Amino acid sequence: MRRKIVAGNWKMYGSRSMASDLAGAIAANMPAEIDIAVFPPLPYIAGLRAQLFGSGLQFGAQDLSEREGQGAFTGDVSAAMLVDVGANYVLVGHSERRKYHGESNECVARKFAAARAAGLTPILCVGETRQQRDSGETEAIIGQQLDAVLKLNGIASFDTALIGYEPVWAIGSGETATPQQAQDVHAFIRSKLEKEDISIARRTRLLYGGSVTTSNVAKLLAQADIDGGLVGGAALTAIDFLEICAAAQ
Ligand code: PEP
Repeated sequence: MRRKIVAGNWKMYGSRSMASDLAGAIAANMPAEIDIAVFPPLPYIAGLRAQLFGSGLQFGAQDLSEREGQGAFTGDVSAAMLVDVGANYVLVGHSERRKYHGESNECVARKFAAARAAGLTPILCVGETRQQRDSGETEAIIGQQLDAVLKLNGIASFDTALIGYEPVWAIGSGETATPQQAQDVHAFIRSKLEKEDISIARRTRLLYGGSVTTSNVAKLLAQADIDGGLVGGAALTAIDFLEICAAAQ
C-alpha cells in the first residue's frame, strides 16, 4: 500500500506574512493519514519550518543546485543547505525550470543525484507538451526524461524518490488531464520502472500535477497508479488545498 501524498507548489507567489498564514492554516487543519508538503519560495522555508516545527507539515524546495559541496557558484543553493533549513523534499525538473532555465534531462539527472546525496527526497517532474501529445510522442518524451535519471542514478535511487507526472499543457492552464489520460501515463511510468526492479516500481509514489482542483482531485486519485497530487494554483488557498488533502485520504 502506497501512502498518499499531496504537495503544494507555491511557485514565486506570496510574501512572508502570506506564507506564514497559509502554512499555519494548513498545519492546523490537515489530515494525519497522508503526507502533506508545501514548497514555498526559498527565502520562506526556514521561517516556516521554525514556526511549524512538530506540526507534521513537511517542506520542500522548488529547485536546487546540481553542484554538491560548497563553492563559488553565485546564486546557487545546495541540497545540503536545503536540508539545513528543514526541507525534506525538492522538485527536480519542473517544466518551468526546463523551459525558463534551459534545464536538460542530464542537468535534471545531476540535480536528482545531488538531492539524494544530501538526504533530500527528490520529486522528479516529467511531462509532455501539447504538441508532443498531439503527435503521439508522450511516452517517448517521458521515457527519455526517465532514462536520463536512471542512467546516472540507477533504479535503486527510486527507493527514496517520487515522480510527478505533469503534462505541460495542463500546468496552470485550467485544462486537466482526464483521469484515464493521467492513469495511462502513470501506468507507463510504473511499467518502465518495473522493467528495472518490480518491488521498487510497486513502492514508488507517482503524483499527478496539472490544474488539480477540488472538483477533479477525487477522480484523479481514484486511479490505480496515482498516489498523490502535485498542486500549483489551488495550493495558494488554504481552504482549497485542505479540501484536496481531504479528498486524498
Ligand atoms: C505545478 O506548477 O506544479 C502545477 C501543477 O500547477 P497548477 O496546479 O497550477 O497547474
